[in-house]
Amino acid sequence: MENPKENFWRLRLEALKGKLEKNNFTVDVVDRLEEARELVLGKILSARNPKSVSWGGSMTFVSCGLYEVLRTRKDLEVIDTFEKGVPFEEMLERRRRALLVDLFFTGTNAVTEQGHLVNLDMYGNRVAALTFGPRAVVVLIGRNKIVPDLESAFHRVKEYAAPINAMRLDKKTPCVKTGVCQDCSSPERICNHWTVTAKCFPKGRIHIVLINQDCGI
Ligand code: SF4
Repeated sequence: MENPKENFWRLRLEALKGKLEKNNFTVDVVDRLEEARELVLGKILSARNPKSVSWGGSMTFVSCGLYEVLRTRKDLEVIDTFEKGVPFEEMLERRRRALLVDLFFTGTNAVTEQGHLVNLDMYGNRVAALTFGPRAVVVLIGRNKIVPDLESAFHRVKEYAAPINAMRLDKKTPCVKTGVCQDCSSPERICNHWTVTAKCFPKGRIHIVLINQDCGI
């Protein structure tokens, strides 16, 4: 067999797709980041027909090129919550307004084999949008985010993703120095709001794109 590793993960992603669909998510599976971008720019934008778009913390959204394409779209109202150099108060206001867009993009910290999304936020804007507000949400998920169950998801997020994200964001937290979560009380703590999205409601509001590559943290 050619590409057994890709084949293995494709089978795992197809199985996960079935679980997620049983939980009322809309799901597509693609092999490459570039395919995820084309899927969004073609099929998903056509189907959802948004007038306004925004996004919240997702390295996959940036690395697949969607951020660069969408932030300059003149035919959409774009609320750019990633723009550099924006004053703090203005950025908070953008994040508030982003909760009412037609289409919101994000990633997830973990997805279980039972088809549940697990996330942990600093501000809560990303998990808020996932839960309620935007008419529809696109979640881009690399195969590295798959874990067996909720316990593994919490462990992955707190002991792996959070310290790396704290490092990426140059936070002054203990985990940046040690690589180990110390459940800190730092003013810059990034671990404040947990969500488990067990099922999508209304049905189909959250559109998940599973990518057969390692993406994000
Ligand atoms: S709780 Fe604090 S120490 Fe633990 S991962 Fe989050 S920011 Fe780091």
